[in-house]
This record gives sequence, C-alpha cells and structure tokens, in this order.
Amino acid sequence: MADATLTFPPDFLWGTATAAHQVEGGNAKNDWWAWEQRREGRVHQDDCSGDACNWWVGLAEADIERMKALNTNAHRLSIEWSRIEPEPGTWDHTALDRYREILKKMRDSGIQPMVTLHHFTSPTWIWEQGEGNATGWLHEGIIPCFRRFVEKAVTDLSDLCDTWCTINEPSVYGAQGFFIGNWPPGRSNLNDYFTVVRNMLRAHAAAYEVIHDVQPHAKVGLAHHMVAWHPRSPGNPIDRGIASMLDKMFNGLTLDCLQTGWYRPLVGGSSEMPEIRSTLDWIGLNYYQRYDAWFSLRAIKQLGISYAARPGAPKGPKGWGEYYPEGLFEHLKRLHQQFNLPIYITENGIPDEDDVSRPAFLLRHLQKVWKAIQLNWRVQGYYWWSLVDNFEWAEGYDPRFRFGLYSVDFESQERTLTKSGQLYAEIAGARTLTSDMVRRYAPELLDELFPGRGPQDMETVIAVSRG
Ligand code: BGC
Repeated sequence: MADATLTFPPDFLWGTATAAHQVEGGNAKNDWWAWEQRREGRVHQDDCSGDACNWWVGLAEADIERMKALNTNAHRLSIEWSRIEPEPGTWDHTALDRYREILKKMRDSGIQPMVTLHHFTSPTWIWEQGEGNATGWLHEGIIPCFRRFVEKAVTDLSDLCDTWCTINEPSVYGAQGFFIGNWPPGRSNLNDYFTVVRNMLRAHAAAYEVIHDVQPHAKVGLAHHMVAWHPRSPGNPIDRGIASMLDKMFNGLTLDCLQTGWYRPLVGGSSEMPEIRSTLDWIGLNYYQRYDAWFSLRAIKQLGISYAARPGAPKGPKGWGEYYPEGLFEHLKRLHQQFNLPIYITENGIPDEDDVSRPAFLLRHLQKVWKAIQLNWRVQGYYWWSLVDNFEWAEGYDPRFRFGLYSVDFESQERTLTKSGQLYAEIAGARTLTSDMVRRYAPELLDELFPGRGPQDMETVIAVSRG
C-alpha cells in the first residue's frame, strides 16, 4: 500500500536551535554566570553552566557536522553580548573571530544561520550604575547600549549572516527575572515586568533600524514565546477572564505593540511608541505548551490566579504544561491573521529525559505546521529546540529537562543520536512526513495523523484543508 505523505515546500527551512549561554561554556562575564555562582538554590542542585557543551573551545564544529547528519539546512544560534563587549564600548575581536569561524563552518556545511542578538543573558556591566552603563533592562539607557552592540556585531558578521533575531522572548525574560524572580536579577514586581518588556521592544526597534542601516537586505525579526492559555471551565466567566488576562499579558501585549505601536500594560497607562510599528520582516514563534487557567481561593496571594496542565493530559516534568499540538496551529493562525508576515517557528521541543515522548511530539507538531502551510500561511521554517542537551537555565542540568536530538554526557562531552534525531533526519531529508514514518516511530498516532484507509479518507483531507 502506498504511503500517505505530507510534503513540505522545497525551500522550507529545517533547523535546530541553541543559545550561547546554554552551549558555549565559560561565559563568565554575563549576569547568568554571576547568578549561578551565588548558589542560592535558585538553579537545580545549584548547578553552574560551566563548560556547557563546550562550543566555545571547539566542539561547535563537530555539532555543526551533526546538523548536516540530521539533513537540516538551518540553525538558530545566539551570540553572547558579554563576550563581544566585555566592558562598555570595548570590543573583543578574538570573540568576534570565533563567531566568524562558527558561522563560516555553518555556511560551508550548507546550514543557513539565524543569529539571535539577545537570548536571556547580558554583560554584568549593564547592571552597574555609572558612566556609560545602562543600569540594566529596567532603564531605557539600555536601548542605546544594545543598539551600539548590535551595530558592531552586525557590521562584523554581515558577510556571514543576513537573518537576525533581535531578542528572544521578551515576555519570558520579563516574567522569569522581574515578576517570578527565579532568574537574574531576581525581582518580583509586576510593574518591572511591564517596564522590561517595553524596554526590550524599544531595543528591538532600535536594533531593527540599525541592522537595516548596516545591511539593507537583512531579514530581521524577534522570537516570541506563546503559551496556549485556556480556561479550565470554559463556562465559568472568571476562568475565562483569567485565561484572557494571562493571554493578554504574556502573548498579546508584545504582538499588539509590534502591530500598532501602542503599549498597553495591564497596570499603568498606555503609551504610543510609533517607532516600534513595522519593525518586523518576519515573526518568530516559540511554542511548547498549554496551560489551563482558573480561579482558586488557595492562590489568593496571586489574586486567585492558578494555572497548570489539564489533569490527566500528557505533560512535562515539574510545572511544565501540557503537550498540545493544536496550540501551535492556533498561534500560527493568530500570527498569520495579525501580521501576514513570513513566520518561522523559532523553537518547538519537549523536555524528555529518555526520548520516549519526543518522536510523537515532533510528528504531531509537524503535522500542524504542514496543515498551516496548506492554508497558505507563510510558515517558512521550523527550528527544533534543541540540537543537543544543554544548560536549561533554572533547571540547570536536571536530566528531566533534556531537549536534545543528540543526548549529551556532560562528563565526557559524548553525543548520542536519539530516536527522535533519526526521525527528524528522515523527515528533513525527504522534506516529507509519511505514514510509514509514523508507523515506525509512533504507531499509536496513525489514526490521529492519517486516519482511515477507505472512503472516509477524502473527508479527512477536506476537513484538514479547511482547517
Ligand atoms: C528558551 C530556551 C529554553 C527553552 C526550553 C525557551 O523558552 O528560549 O532558552 O531552553 O525554552 O525551556
């Protein structure tokens, strides 16, 4: 019997993603490193990033060979501001040369780079008061500092890259570091969250402008993390209100501002920042999970706001949410309708120590990507998080939070291709997802992804193509 096939466009980007601090090792001049050294129990078992995946001292090259082995043609990496500008206005050319080596190796290997300019870490000096310093993301003085760094980095690397992601996940950065307080600088203040997201959006706009000055044909965007927030009881207006509030604060605020130039925080006044409008050549979606939201008297300190994976649904470890592929489709639809721009899925992945759930997760999410493409939404690439297991921020090296297509033994730095890595290599190599792959890697999904073998086939095809 012939395979059913979901074919992707020939120019689709099949990628993986990493971030500097999570893979490079030895990033001793940034705020995350300083945070780890405090060993105050805010990182799993007080882990320090240490050598991470040793990219900086030479292992990046072998991992780029692994990208090739996966048949991918794209990779999203970040460059570390604190390496390039260890002191305000002082440039480290050796660091820039190392990035040149890495980017060159990618290009020579047929891997198109997307470079992120801020992925959660900043030089420690931005937090120090003083001449020339920005005093961190809480202050608008950060904007010219970031712009200066971007101008230098893009000027030096523009012959090797033309796709730039200015900032990774302003809302996650703002929430973890300034509202929840479990990332540096460890603050817990809702106003700070809104201030930081606003400063990041302004810094994004400044970066957008300067990148285009340096490299007119550049393709510039931002990676936005979106969670599927749903009311636990859709019939309950309070639950609906809480889900909608979380959606506005976490998903909508950033999108709305990028679209209209209006920043409308939930507390404090709205302000118009016209310079932020039209500063996207593409939009990046980082998608992992769904949460149910509801009102609970037990959470009265958090104003009754509670959220968690739906009971009984497949979910990640600890407080991680529910695996919910439909959420990817919902967000692609929203981005398409709001922006009608090229979309990259700049991250999608699953923490899965033993690679048990990952093959099915990958297949189910890619099927949604395919469906979005059939509807003519401009989804142009997919970057799996992550190529290799790496340092997972507050989860440190907790084995439950391994995301790699290659697992890593952090003692020996040995990499092992996982089953999901093999699957991704097959899909990326064929540019196609087939029923045969599903049969071999996750047979339990056959009825979900390729239902029916008789006359009902046509009904499925019609239903899928109607969305
Ligand atoms: C971040 C990554 C992180 C991943 C998994 C994303 O929000 O951009 O740095 O490792 O989620 O938690």
